[in-house]
Amino acid sequence: MDQSIDLSAVDRAIERHAEAAFAFLERLVAAPSTIGQEQGALEVFADELDGLGFAIERLPVSESVTDLPDAGTRQVPYAGRYNVVARRDGDPDRSSLLLNGHIDVVPAASPQLWTSPPFQPTRRDGWLYGRGAGDMKCGFAMGSLALRAVLDAAPDRLTAPLGVLAAIEEECTGNGTIAAAAAGVTADAVILLEPTNLDLLLGGVGILWLQVEVLGRAAHAESAGRAVNAIEASLPVIAAMRALEVELNGMGDARIAGERAFSVNVGRIEGGDWPSSVPSLARIDVRIGYPMGWTPAQAEARARAHIGRLTATDPWLARHPPTIRQVGFRARGYDLSASHPLARMVAAAHRDAHGSEPAAVVLSSTTDARTYLNTHGIPALCYGPRTDRIHAVDEGVELASIVDGARTLARFLLDWSATSPSAADLALGTQP
Ligand SMILES: [Zn+2]
Repeated sequence: MDQSIDLSAVDRAIERHAEAAFAFLERLVAAPSTIGQEQGALEVFADELDGLGFAIERLPVSESVTDLPDAGTRQVPYAGRYNVVARRDGDPDRSSLLLNGHIDVVPAASPQLWTSPPFQPTRRDGWLYGRGAGDMKCGFAMGSLALRAVLDAAPDRLTAPLGVLAAIEEECTGNGTIAAAAAGVTADAVILLEPTNLDLLLGGVGILWLQVEVLGRAAHAESAGRAVNAIEASLPVIAAMRALEVELNGMGDARIAGERAFSVNVGRIEGGDWPSSVPSLARIDVRIGYPMGWTPAQAEARARAHIGRLTATDPWLARHPPTIRQVGFRARGYDLSASHPLARMVAAAHRDAHGSEPAAVVLSSTTDARTYLNTHGIPALCYGPRTDRIHAVDEGVELASIVDGARTLARFLLDWSATSPSAADLALGTQP
């Protein structure tokens, strides 16, 4: 840390502006930004960063994004959809920094199960609840709070050229960040403001989505003897996915936190249209976590092999093999070394703010950090607030952790500006 900066003044500014950051988070949560519906929340973000004096640019996402390396398969057409990047000029001779967040949230399909409506931000006992409050609109609040405090208390010390990106489609393809990075929205290093419980999140597994369709033979339910029920015929596919998961976890990976390194999740099942009709089609959507060194094609081949085995043992599926389509994620794993200077600088900022060493973790999930590391050779890591039940009912963020995270981020922003690490310092070396 540069001791000539009065960090207690920065911390006081963080306390002063915390309530405004929470209110910004509430506005973000109140703008539901599920896939295809991102505009309202993007404009809340644009207003906030405009208010901090950043220049705002809306970057369209082209349909051809899916042709870029590591892009996911399209979910929803891109016409009219965009990312927002906010920029602040700094000293062009100093190393630049990009803060990245994703504006999209996963659906909240069963709102009746929530304690309060998912898109109505609600505070209880020091937490703020709502879909996206945790993953990851709280990260934007933390980023805004740190920037506002530094611009308030030590504006002339923020000399690094800065960008803040709000990207779409982190939750299904990664194509928002992939498009922005390909359009030149990069920097010498990237901090992703994902919820990490104030740990350093340095890596994640590969993720592949597949959609499996099983055909039946339709009929009225009273003549079901001649029919084949597609929903029931699809059940062996679920068993095959369980077998794939067992096989993958047999390979293990000691770096990955949690009890199961590679989760194969049957995330959605659709089929049938009427209680008295035998369904003719069942569709199963699966998310497959796979080892870091693999390509998506290797993972898909393993999944196809497990499903293919069914056609040898199941008489109906043998004659009517399931159709397998790749949809959404085809993401490779990624990993930044804990000894990389970027990780060391964020750890030092955390230590200075909180007096303890942050944990360094690798998770059985993915983030947009992989695009910077794998495709562009730019160091990137995730650091953000403490959350609970992300992607689930009653998702929330601990408000105090937004303040705590901002204290780290403010120190890091100042340290980055002061030291301006060189390209040689930041090179990834033997990164994948
Ligand atoms: Zn996220």
